[in-house]
Amino acid sequence: MNHTFGKSRPKKIKEKISKSLLGNIPWNKGMAGGKSPQFKGDRFIDKDGYYRAWDTKKLSYRPEHRIVMEKTMNKTLPQSLIVHHKDNNRINNKIENLAIMERSEHSKWHRLERVEIEREIKG
Ligand SMILES: [Zn+2]
Repeated sequence: MNHTFGKSRPKKIKEKISKSLLGNIPWNKGMAGGKSPQFKGDRFIDKDGYYRAWDTKKLSYRPEHRIVMEKTMNKTLPQSLIVHHKDNNRINNKIENLAIMERSEHSKWHRLERVEIEREIKG
């Protein structure tokens, strides 16, 4: 059993999750895609290695880390804001692992990180 689900989910959803872990039923079955013809399951990993999850409000697939952040903040994030994975693991969408950054701040962050890694490799 894994416990990687966010702590911020409402109780009802938590119950659904624990039930689904027992029975292999998607945790958001029923509340997810519903009757939309575009709906093909809860989530999948896209070509860039990010989870895409079904957004129940927009009825389309969106990067799951953005959905997690938006649900936590209870508002829609503008495209100018990036949701960064602190541990660089693109599929670790726990809220503790996510941080909001400006686009410029984000690229600066990754540039610094690359310099750091290169320094380590060179010794
Ligand atoms: Zn990042």
